[in-house]
Amino acid sequence: MAFIRTVLGDIDPSEFGVCDSHEHMFRSGGPEVDHDKDFRLDDLDASIAETEDWLGAGGKSMVLMDPIGCGRNVEKTVALAEAFRGRAHFVTTTGFQKGDFYDHKVSFAATNSVEDLVEQMALEVNEGLDLHSYNGPIVKRVPYKAGVIKAGTGYSFISAFEQKTLTVAAKTQLRTGVPISIHTQQGTMGLEAAKFLIDQGAVPGHTVVCHSQKNPDRFYHKQILETGVYVCYDGPDRAKYFPDSVHADNLKWLIEQGFQKQLLLSMDAGRASYQKAHMAKVGKMANGISYLLERFVPTLLEAGISQEAVDDMLIYNPAKAFSFVEAGA
Ligand SMILES: [Zn+2]
Repeated sequence: MAFIRTVLGDIDPSEFGVCDSHEHMFRSGGPEVDHDKDFRLDDLDASIAETEDWLGAGGKSMVLMDPIGCGRNVEKTVALAEAFRGRAHFVTTTGFQKGDFYDHKVSFAATNSVEDLVEQMALEVNEGLDLHSYNGPIVKRVPYKAGVIKAGTGYSFISAFEQKTLTVAAKTQLRTGVPISIHTQQGTMGLEAAKFLIDQGAVPGHTVVCHSQKNPDRFYHKQILETGVYVCYDGPDRAKYFPDSVHADNLKWLIEQGFQKQLLLSMDAGRASYQKAHMAKVGKMANGISYLLERFVPTLLEAGISQEAVDDMLIYNPAKAFSFVEAGA
């Protein structure tokens, strides 16, 4: 039986509903926060309010993408999931971000073997998350599990460290069936990362390449999709990169090319300034995560994309992509 592993337990994929396929609710510290305080997301009340707004707009589920070493907050993630028990679904991640965020000589991921890392990732998937996100020798497992594994790549390169974490992701999927979702820097190296993962045994139908829209080259996206993986278009409402119309036109073209069943959508609102509730606390108006449904979906429809295709990208494709690999697949 197919299932999606949410923070509160395994569910039938048909229950997943309208999904934001790459999101951030908590990032309590780590390299991004050190670089820019806008990356800090550490307010449970604001995350609850943002989720209420997402549900009010018609949303149901989110895939939370903060992995080991990047400020993942297990305690608050569990508290958020419990606050919405029976109303919303959250999937959370184990694994790693891009290599720039880790010491390549002495970090947890650097000094341990691939086999030992796979063992630790599999424990987060099968037994429970480490409350401390593997930041030290004391591991306290909680009865809430990871439902996706992350890996990340650099801008126009995949470092030796990143090849190792991609390998860990693929081997953890082989062991546990957990779906894989990867960060690409400015959308580069998505094709190479997808091929690398598949060569290591990853199942394309349970593998997601994120941030490809930051390199808004639809022919490149087509090449990635031809490997069989999913491509997630993250973050409309980012005029500093590209207007939404660019993404809408590219999505329309990819759907016309036959890839409607392999596209996902998300806000990737990983900054306080991208979230309505966090900004309200400092007296500012922002669009927030509900923009995906209230503003971007109407843009997609106006661009000529069908409601059926929108439903695939928001409901039916995530239900498949984030299901665990079934034995024998
Ligand atoms: Zn993200």
